[in-house]
Amino acid sequence: MAKKTPPRRVRPLSKKKAARATTSRASGLQGVPAEAQAATPLPRADREAKSEEDRVDASKARAELPSAAAPAPATDGKATPPSAPEAGVAQGVPSEPGGSTPGPGSAAQCDALSEERSVPASAEATPPPTGATARRDPPEPHPRAAAPPSDQASGAESAAEPPGEPIAEAEPGAVAEPEAAVADLAFSPPGEPEPVAAEPAQVEPEPPPFPSPEPQVHHAVASLPALFIVQVTPELAPVAKVGGLADVVFGLSNELEIRGNHVEIVLPKYDCLRYDHIWGLCESYRDLWVPWYGGAIHCTVYFGFVHGRKCFFIEPHSSDNFFNRGCIYGFNDDVLRYAFFSRAAMEFLWKTGKHPDILHCHDWQTALVPVFLYEIYQHLGMSRSRVCFTIHNFKHQGVTGAQVLYATGLNRPEYYFHYDRMRDNFNPHAINLMKAGVVYSNFITTVSPRHAIEAKDQGQGFGLEPTLHIHHAKFGGVVNGIDYNVWNPEIDRYIPYHYGLGNLDDKYKNKKALRDRLLIADNEKPIVAFVGRLDPQKGLELIRHAIFYTLHRRGQFVLLGSSPDGQINNYFWSLKHQLNDNPDVHIEIGFNEELSHLIYAGADLMLVPSRFEPCGLTQLIALRYATVPVVREVGGLADTVFDKDYSYRPLHERNGYVFRDYDYSGLESALGRAISCYYDYPEHFRELMKNCIRCDYSWKNPGQDYLNIYHYIRVK
Ligand code: ADP
Repeated sequence: MAKKTPPRRVRPLSKKKAARATTSRASGLQGVPAEAQAATPLPRADREAKSEEDRVDASKARAELPSAAAPAPATDGKATPPSAPEAGVAQGVPSEPGGSTPGPGSAAQCDALSEERSVPASAEATPPPTGATARRDPPEPHPRAAAPPSDQASGAESAAEPPGEPIAEAEPGAVAEPEAAVADLAFSPPGEPEPVAAEPAQVEPEPPPFPSPEPQVHHAVASLPALFIVQVTPELAPVAKVGGLADVVFGLSNELEIRGNHVEIVLPKYDCLRYDHIWGLCESYRDLWVPWYGGAIHCTVYFGFVHGRKCFFIEPHSSDNFFNRGCIYGFNDDVLRYAFFSRAAMEFLWKTGKHPDILHCHDWQTALVPVFLYEIYQHLGMSRSRVCFTIHNFKHQGVTGAQVLYATGLNRPEYYFHYDRMRDNFNPHAINLMKAGVVYSNFITTVSPRHAIEAKDQGQGFGLEPTLHIHHAKFGGVVNGIDYNVWNPEIDRYIPYHYGLGNLDDKYKNKKALRDRLLIADNEKPIVAFVGRLDPQKGLELIRHAIFYTLHRRGQFVLLGSSPDGQINNYFWSLKHQLNDNPDVHIEIGFNEELSHLIYAGADLMLVPSRFEPCGLTQLIALRYATVPVVREVGGLADTVFDKDYSYRPLHERNGYVFRDYDYSGLESALGRAISCYYDYPEHFRELMKNCIRCDYSWKNPGQDYLNIYHYIRVK
């Protein structure tokens, strides 16, 4: 029985809340091709053979590895351009095609629950860099750039061959039909050996990695060698966190280590790092000279542990002041800042003799890493490294002008300004870093299977659709996990009362603590929460509407969010002032990791009404805290939340409320049902909470998926 707290007191709060508001914390923490082999999609028969049951059981299938179907490894010591796998990449196909139709939940169904369980629209050819970086002319020596040591790697000296034959732009008709695309995108590489093995004479004599005809993932993986994996990233939780990317690198790195791999993380040494989360910070490499505009910038590399993760922080010494700006993103020269970081990361790996099996890059900020690897560093000895590139958000692609080529030593604009390499698909005068990452990487993932389809086929690729079609055979989706050492109400150090399935009632003590902290009324109402960036992506109109609708339906609303956009921030500040006297609302503008934990624990419902959502972590975290998610059926939200009343999933797998249309009535249909259930069917709501907390969105499955990909592309 859901605990209903009787209306105890409703405090007049205006003064206290105003006082609280002024003390609100807003912390500053604020982005080969050699011949791309002809992609052979998963055989149609295989795809069609996937039964409904198979799809429901996608998490198992996901773990299967390609064996005979894997492309032959390069053995000539040269980095092989990202070849298209012979068979489509796997993954959990969204197993619930159905949408939610608004309507009240039925009691019978409820009963049964308990039994089962930027792209800058016109990318300017040359975005206006600021300060000392605002130069377009090539080899002007950098003001602070000293002459590099003689062994300095330089792109100009690279004798790199073009990355393979130009690939013809795919005609729409040439692309696999939707069903095929779905199968291609499901990341559980073909489990069955391909008939290719019928030519044994040409097969390498080494034993197949998976002797069992029906590979058991865990046994199979145990027989695979440990890998040296380097994550090159602009963000890492909790030391440099803006959004989900930071959590992904943090959680995935740990999971890979647990599975016996060696993982290192390279990131910029921002001045706004949370140094209180870094242990043993010390100088690791003092004289790193990074090529820049024909000269070089001197850097120091630091080493430290972030909750056990081995991290290298690159600090440039230059008047550009790339990473000493008080926050992480939001500057006119962001493209140059991260181009520099990418080049510095590669230079560091090369100079220190590290030869990672896998370089895992994230978003446009590090998309030049595979370009540098293929065009420069493989010729300097880094011939065994392969690149996995994860796109967390297609909206921001790093579209820029030619100066980034001169800055980083790639030079040769005539070579890179080719549609098969880096030229933006829409602005012929611009290059697109994210596109380069797609073209040059050995494998590309986005953060959910549904979003992989949306990006490639449903107009959510922000202009990269043709590129994704060309490279579809090395593109797939892996749902993010969350780190259950951090996001776990049984051990969470930021919440006052620990709870789990066995003592779910203690969640309500946290609800009380949240109310006390935010000075909202302690009554019988459900708390609806939103935690996230205040970005148009997140559905700002619907969030605003949800606040008033919740109040109208006798609920309370708590919002925690911030935006680098002043206008958006101002809007929510004025909303905060408007509602300041209302004892049932609290709006907290700012980034506050600690408070977010208490909100996840104390709220009853978590709203995620995104316009688009590559994966979304808030609903995954909410599930773990038995906070029922109310989400729009898009991207990773559709892959992870299943409507209590209308999902095709078994009842015990239904874990939230889902709406399809991005409009007020869509939102009301789901939020209204959720609030009704809370009031009218508390037992059912309770069962729903239990379903939520039983979900497993740890890194276990996605960690395995990424390992499968790594082993698929590594040099064997
Ligand atoms: P995105 O990556 O698009 O920002 P995700 O849902 O993938 O969105 O990840 C958001 C992560 O950032 C979650 O861990 C969420 O709790 C956290 N977060 C977002 N905004 C805030 C905030 N203002 N304060 C604290 N944590 C926040």
